[in-house]
Amino acid sequence: MADRREFTSKTRKQALKRSGLICEALGDWYGLPSGQRCTRNLGDGVNYDHLILDANSHDNSLENCRAVCPKCHAWKTANRDTPTAAKTVRQQLMGMKTRAKAKIPSPPKPARVEKPKLPPRQLYGAAS
Ligand SMILES: [Zn+2]
Repeated sequence: MADRREFTSKTRKQALKRSGLICEALGDWYGLPSGQRCTRNLGDGVNYDHLILDANSHDNSLENCRAVCPKCHAWKTANRDTPTAAKTVRQQLMGMKTRAKAKIPSPPKPARVEKPKLPPRQLYGAAS
């Protein structure tokens, strides 16, 4: 496993100061309702999370750092970071093979038209 770079202590301090000791997790990226910020107090524990996964972004700036509570961090790790990393690798491996095999529904059959029955053809004149 590649070494995962971490935020500097300076960045962590700045992120914590920016958070106001309230979890910075925001919206559905962290499993919250869209636009809603987690309001847990970070005094109970704080994790420093890469907003965009480090393996993808290589970004340890304050902008990519979120001071979040352990619960939000655990949720994002389980639901975002791992699938994102796996997806990236998968896309690189699969290339163009990932074309979706959509089932094309067959067109509806036209209603069958009953031909009117012809009266029995009289090839020869009726015998009299
Ligand atoms: Zn939180």
